[in-house]
Amino acid sequence: MVTATAPRPPVVLPPERPEAAGLLDRFARQATDLRISLTDRCNLRCTYCMPAEGLPFLPPPALMSREEITRLARIAVTDFGVRQIRFTGGEPLLRKDLVEIIRDVASLEPRPEISLTTNAIGLSSRATALAEAGLDRINVSLDSIEPETFAKITRRPFLARVLAGIDAVGAAGLVSTKINAVLMPGINDDQAVELLEWALAGGHQLRFIEQMALDADHTWNRDEMITADGIRARLAERYLLSPDEAPRDGAPAELYQVRERSDGPDGPVLGLVGVIASVSEPFCADCRRTRLTAEGGVRSCLFSHTETDLLGPLREGADDRELADLWRAAMWAKPAGHQMNELGFAQPDRPMSAIGG
Ligand code: SAM
Ligand code: SF4
Repeated sequence: MVTATAPRPPVVLPPERPEAAGLLDRFARQATDLRISLTDRCNLRCTYCMPAEGLPFLPPPALMSREEITRLARIAVTDFGVRQIRFTGGEPLLRKDLVEIIRDVASLEPRPEISLTTNAIGLSSRATALAEAGLDRINVSLDSIEPETFAKITRRPFLARVLAGIDAVGAAGLVSTKINAVLMPGINDDQAVELLEWALAGGHQLRFIEQMALDADHTWNRDEMITADGIRARLAERYLLSPDEAPRDGAPAELYQVRERSDGPDGPVLGLVGVIASVSEPFCADCRRTRLTAEGGVRSCLFSHTETDLLGPLREGADDRELADLWRAAMWAKPAGHQMNELGFAQPDRPMSAIGG
């Protein structure tokens, strides 16, 4: 017996929303930066992101396929004016079809800038293919260059593989490698200077990210995290930091020029370092991000407690207009901010690995 699928009711956009194609919200922001999670799986178990035993991962059919990702990315680029697409996860390099996904998205018109956030395990053998497919930029997460500390944070002894991946990026001709690091008290906060010294020597832009309440174990504590002030104080033991003058333009990182303290304020600039102070100096008022989870749900904010499913309607035959309106309605409801500093803040159930950082 063939069962007919009931027609879906039309998506009704809130009447107060202005008639506009883009992803507007109630606070006059427009999302032009799309983050797509490609998988919730990972080969590391970073303590601030995943529990030691992993999580109940999605079965492969529940993940967006290459074609589904490309279709939603096309709607974002052509209907909403999205200009930047970042692939993340979980660990996006675990997707065997990553090169093909990037090639498909790079063929969209207008072509978005394409970037990847990765732990770099396995990158050494794929960096060239990714660059040839159209990947423009890459961010590698690395919290310590000391093998024991790395293994303690990630619960895996894979530092050498990460460093090999980072080396391969330069050889592949990708524009830049940014390194993302999370400092934790008593674990790696005494290594901030060492990490910056290493990044400057390799020509990488290091960005310290404040630890957010997105760990699977729900042990985050506002009073124990290393804040932006703490990060800058640790770096000041060796370096002079002065705010970079280039406009921030919605970027999460506040950038600083780095000089040797011993050279003084007129000394040569050694490079830039970033601080992403999501908790202590939130930048929600200028947030331009929209997110798709690996199973095709729109999250208007990392800290959302709700998601809007696009993949279900897509698989049931929804047309582009319906998918775009579902996405627009989800973004219209984007909250003003994350409220991590408010009494009564409730951490989302999903940890970072299952949202897509
Ligand atoms: N596996 C890839 C990686 O580690 O780069 C991509 C996904 S990971 C969730 C993306 C970024 O989120 C990483 O830079 C990681 O350090 C960051 N992250 C994860 N949990 C976090 C937390 N609780 N607070 C701040 N950043 C976090
Ligand atoms: Fe994996 Fe990235 Fe989370 Fe570490 S931060 S567990 S590498 S998803």
